[in-house]
Amino acid sequence: MILSIESSCDDSSIAITEIETKKLIFHKKISQELQHSIYGGVVPELAARLHVEALPKILEECKEYFPKLKAIAVTNAPGLSVTLMEGVTMAKALSISLNLPLIAVNHLKGHIFSLFIEKEEIFPTTILLVSGGHTQIIEANSFDNMKILATTIDDSFGESFDKVAKMLGLGYPGGPIVQEKGLKGDENRFDFPVPLRQSPNIEFSYSGLKNAVRIQIEKLEKEEISEQDICDICASFEKTAVAHIMQKVKKLFKTKSSKHFAIVGGASANIRLRSAIEEFCKTKEMTLFLSELKYCSDNAAMIGRVALEQYKAKDFTTAKDIDVKTRLKEF
Ligand code: ATP
Ligand code: FE
Repeated sequence: MILSIESSCDDSSIAITEIETKKLIFHKKISQELQHSIYGGVVPELAARLHVEALPKILEECKEYFPKLKAIAVTNAPGLSVTLMEGVTMAKALSISLNLPLIAVNHLKGHIFSLFIEKEEIFPTTILLVSGGHTQIIEANSFDNMKILATTIDDSFGESFDKVAKMLGLGYPGGPIVQEKGLKGDENRFDFPVPLRQSPNIEFSYSGLKNAVRIQIEKLEKEEISEQDICDICASFEKTAVAHIMQKVKKLFKTKSSKHFAIVGGASANIRLRSAIEEFCKTKEMTLFLSELKYCSDNAAMIGRVALEQYKAKDFTTAKDIDVKTRLKEF
């Protein structure tokens, strides 16, 4: 079995995965959303302190499997350095004390492999990764051959939901709250411009849309902003945010084709995005893969699933050599 640890942002999670069967034997996650909510975003120092409390608590619960472990896996990039270090330090200590090899896992590969938890992988697949820190289209040909086809030049899709929620004083994480409010709103009330509409490049940008929303909120706040105004802003913003992705995805598929398409990452839970992509996949006769909702946001099960592949390939590191990286340019 492999024990895997995830602490790249505001979720403390540990999983144990059986090597032969890919079965998830143990999985637990403690989220810090409530604690960060009042700040409208993740406070790194607070997140690190909360990992210090949560990770040992979870580890206590899976001690019975220690004698069966063959490796320790941990997310080492990308993410917040102070929170990554909490997981990595725990992994180092376990690897030294249990005399086990260490596996350093790329968090974004984790999001991709959330599709394949307790399953065989399916490649080649074109993947839309939408999370708190990333908005990317990836051509995944195999475990070792993944190419980024498009990325964002500023904010990410998920982050734009967080920022809109923050501007409206709705709390964190913004995605589910904005989605919920949007369901009660009029998506056509505000005409926010779709980002990079005229640009021939396949890339994303969310800071302009965020500013357009900010200006609209400021206008409304001159009077009193009503609950209906908030719902209408959320619906109009979400419609534009998804339209931007869809325009670029459609543009990309003018010059390429694929048998499989997948959406991964925390923001892949977005219903409007899911149904727009579903429609598009039908027209292109592509099979769409989605990870289970509980595996969309950060979790150690997806890190364990990646670690299975690295274990097979003997892709190990040591407590001395592992380091954390806040950003990764490529896979
Ligand atoms: P990264 O994986 O890029 O390092 P992260 O791990 O912080 O970033 P995830 O946990 O994968 O991000 O996803 C969290 C993000 O997903 C948040 O920005 C959140 O607002 C967004 N999100 C969650 N649910 C929804 C939703 N229904 N609609 C839109 N966004 C959503
Ligand atoms: Fe993530």
